[in-house]
Amino acid sequence: MKTKFIFVTGGVVSSIGKGLAAASLGALLEARGLRVTLQKLDPYINVDPGTMSPFQHGEVFVTDDGAETDLDLGHYERYTNARLSRKSNFTTGQVYFSVIEKERRGDYLGGTVQVIPHITDEIKSKIIDNAKGADIAIVEVGGTVGDIESLPFLEAIRQFRADRGAGNVLYLHVTLVPYIKTAGELKSKPTQHSVKELQEIGIQPDILLCRSEQELPRELRAKIALFCNVAEKSVIPSADAEHIYAVPLALHREGLDEEVVDKLNIWAKAPDLGPWQEVVAKLRNPAHGEVRIGIVGKYVNLADSYKSLNEALVHGGIANDCRVTLFLIDAEKIELEGVGPLEEFDAILVPGGFGERGSEGKIKAIEFARTRNIPFFGICLGMQMAVVEYARNVCGLTDACSSEFKPDSAHPVIHLMEEQKSVSRKGGTMRLGAYPCTLLKGSFAQKAYGSLDISERHRHRYEFNNGYRDLLTGKGLLLSGINREGDLVEIVEVPGHPWFLGCQFHPEFKSKPLNPHPLFRAFVAAALENKGKSVKSEV
Ligand code: GLN
Repeated sequence: MKTKFIFVTGGVVSSIGKGLAAASLGALLEARGLRVTLQKLDPYINVDPGTMSPFQHGEVFVTDDGAETDLDLGHYERYTNARLSRKSNFTTGQVYFSVIEKERRGDYLGGTVQVIPHITDEIKSKIIDNAKGADIAIVEVGGTVGDIESLPFLEAIRQFRADRGAGNVLYLHVTLVPYIKTAGELKSKPTQHSVKELQEIGIQPDILLCRSEQELPRELRAKIALFCNVAEKSVIPSADAEHIYAVPLALHREGLDEEVVDKLNIWAKAPDLGPWQEVVAKLRNPAHGEVRIGIVGKYVNLADSYKSLNEALVHGGIANDCRVTLFLIDAEKIELEGVGPLEEFDAILVPGGFGERGSEGKIKAIEFARTRNIPFFGICLGMQMAVVEYARNVCGLTDACSSEFKPDSAHPVIHLMEEQKSVSRKGGTMRLGAYPCTLLKGSFAQKAYGSLDISERHRHRYEFNNGYRDLLTGKGLLLSGINREGDLVEIVEVPGHPWFLGCQFHPEFKSKPLNPHPLFRAFVAAALENKGKSVKSEV
């Protein structure tokens, strides 16, 4: 089948769930047996989001091939089986970068280089390149229709229909239908305006996805259809769902995937949504109650900065048929006020992060988990802090530290490796993307994965210092995962503890609701077990 393209744009306001809509549509089309790929086009000028603050932008999502990308790609991978790569996300900055490079090389043979056709051609070629091998390419245009910066993207996707033929290209516009309290009504005017804006650019949307807090009444659906020049059945209501994983089912009920395959003339089987129904049923009515997990971190003010992590923990709950409730604890508060607030949790997690702020609080939290037999999961910086804690409190190296925080530490148990030291530039010096790792038989890790060879994604600069291996293992620390090629320690564990594991990689990037990550499954299982114990001891 020749690849067909679905372009997803957004209107009225940002943050109405365009990424989730694109991902959910991908899930529905996959459930119909189609091969799907997804892509996000970002209108900002940064060449990649790797250097952007998580305060502004939420999490940096990492692909297998080591691209630091927009967090929407996380949604895409969680909802579908699409294997995303650095081609799956590009920014205005990257487009201009390649066009300017070509101009400098003389590729344009002295011609005048312009937004149309040079920038738009570059955009189109990046879209086509990513779509190879897929039945359907879903392409989300970031930002909101009407923004100056997204105009070249919209022009490029407008040209697609002429280039590829009407039956091969579909425009899906996601808008907001706000509820106005004083009028007691949902209002369609903003949708009309944003569609008008698209039409002015030359794009007539085929399907409108109308986000609203409440059910969209039939008459309003008819009115939107009339004013926006689409069929009534192409106006798909999307009221707020009880859970993000209920969105594919809700959109299916409203007829979204039916309308898409119809309009693109695709013969596809009815979707098998059994696995999604099972996920939603468990989220709604978990058989084993709730576990409470404390996440001791730094970016506690912005939920999006730990997006994949939060989702992976929810998936761990799905795997154990329990509800996982997360509590974000400010590491600096633990540093100043002590570990008291941690008493109420069934398990503790220290996530990834950069910079010294809060690190002593994290170390205190880890000591608390280790000595009180509370299940502990340390990810990346969390693993590094677990090594520091062990070196200080078990091996007696009281001034052990990571050289990220103390470059002249007497015991840099976490450090930069020799070959990294010469690299001083900040951008692009990290270990990024997928690396293989070999597990030790009988370890927590190997039991969780059920295999000896794994591959996980990295995003960090510092490493476990092999000079301290003998000392740390002599005092009982288990190095249960090793990257053989670089002889790098990837996983540490405390044997004899109910569950204490730190990993240098970011397992959360590979967890999905339909396929929860083994480490999160095992961690939540340990939390559930621990909860059982404390309930018993209270009786
Ligand atoms: N700051 C640490 C490093 O660069 C950990 C990074 C992380 O947690 N992602 O190695």
